[in-house]
Amino acid sequence: MASGSGSSSKNENKNDFRRKWDKDEYESLAQQRLEEERDRERRDGKLPTPVKRDMLRHRDYKVDLESKLGKTIVITKTTPQAEMGGYYCNVCDCVVKDSINFLDHINGKKT
Ligand SMILES: [Zn+2]
Repeated sequence: MASGSGSSSKNENKNDFRRKWDKDEYESLAQQRLEEERDRERRDGKLPTPVKRDMLRHRDYKVDLESKLGKTIVITKTTPQAEMGGYYCNVCDCVVKDSINFLDHINGKKT
């Protein structure tokens, strides 16, 4: 029982001082870290769970800016807002007075 120590193979790449990074490995490590971080923040309540939203879409209808041009309508107290003249937005049930503001409005700016 004299031998046993002496020939461990711990000197692998002793002269290779330039470390070789395994890109894939480190990328997945980074990814993992990011996910952990996100998890932690979510637990801490820093980040609300991301809301899944629809992608922006093109309008699938034509914006009618002209059909009422030059027409005269009678507006009474009981006329529904949609027919009050101006441009009606059925999303927020409001009327915008002119076409520029209306386009701004349906494109997302608050008017
Ligand atoms: Zn609106």
